Amino acid sequence: MEILSGLNQTEIEKITDELKASKFRARQIHNWIYLKSVSSIDEMTDLSVKFREELKQVAVVTDIKIKTKQVSSDGTIKYLLEFSDGECVETVLMRFDNRANLTACVSSQVGCAVNCSFCATGKRGFIRNLSYKEIIEQVLTIQRDTGLKVTNVVFMGQGEPLLNLDNVLKAMEIFNEDFQIGARRLTVSTSGIIPQINKLADFNMQSTLAISLHAPNHNIRRQIMKIEDKYNMEELKKALKNYVNKTGRRITIEYLLIKDVNDSVENAKELAYYLNDIKCNINLIPYNPTEQNDYKRPSNNSVMKFKYLLEHSGKKVTVRLERGADIDAACGQLKGKVC
Ligand code: SF4
Repeated sequence: MEILSGLNQTEIEKITDELKASKFRARQIHNWIYLKSVSSIDEMTDLSVKFREELKQVAVVTDIKIKTKQVSSDGTIKYLLEFSDGECVETVLMRFDNRANLTACVSSQVGCAVNCSFCATGKRGFIRNLSYKEIIEQVLTIQRDTGLKVTNVVFMGQGEPLLNLDNVLKAMEIFNEDFQIGARRLTVSTSGIIPQINKLADFNMQSTLAISLHAPNHNIRRQIMKIEDKYNMEELKKALKNYVNKTGRRITIEYLLIKDVNDSVENAKELAYYLNDIKCNINLIPYNPTEQNDYKRPSNNSVMKFKYLLEHSGKKVTVRLERGADIDAACGQLKGKVC
């Protein structure tokens, strides 16, 4: 049985050809899937009943299941989604003050091999990559469930997107072409997989690259992110400069502020020095304590001091708005996920 979600126009045409239907039927099905977000073929009401019955013999819209759904007081929704093999991932819909801006935070893998110290996903180890269809199904599920159109997608859910690059790139192409989400509204976040960052630079991607840096120097980074032993900050810096040179795009630096680990005045100055010649914006994320480790959240005062010192170095700095903290969907709580 063919799953229609995730197929592009040409792939849907293959199905309609086999059913001896016109390319126009394929276009109608495509619109029902991506623009009207239907859950079943019966909802495709501009197709004849006879054709819908024929289509139902060979295809279904989706086979993904919503296992749980939690809604935060601020409107954030966290889903636990189950795929046909029983594996599950979390996906979050975030609404910001501007209600027109709906951001889906999608997962790219089940589990993760990178094993950052602050992240429960990493503790599971790597289970498997998601297919590009499973990635885009997360956004389609949100659209079907809410009736809303997602406007931005961030690859900041479970998994390291650059270790599943082919599927992530294919999903981004579909978000761009089939969902009609602008490339600049797509963000890929990585713990710093250098060879893949270089690959992205060669693709001249117009989407946003976010780097989960989380430390101002090698010693602190290797304490909290094992990936530093494989791809260290000095080499990472070269890759980031190469990326900026090739794409002309500004990078986003994600920095998780953990009390007494990486939040001192000295750390802020070191970070400013490290980023001095990299075209970037900085996103500070005060840590959300979880039960999985002893890390603590810094005081608001030290967050503001850290921000001030970085701004003083000439960078644009934001403190990430917390979303969905009451349903464990805030950064650091998506099964402990923060990159
Ligand atoms: S923070 Fe991201 S890269 Fe690190 S272990 Fe978790 S999912 Fe993997």
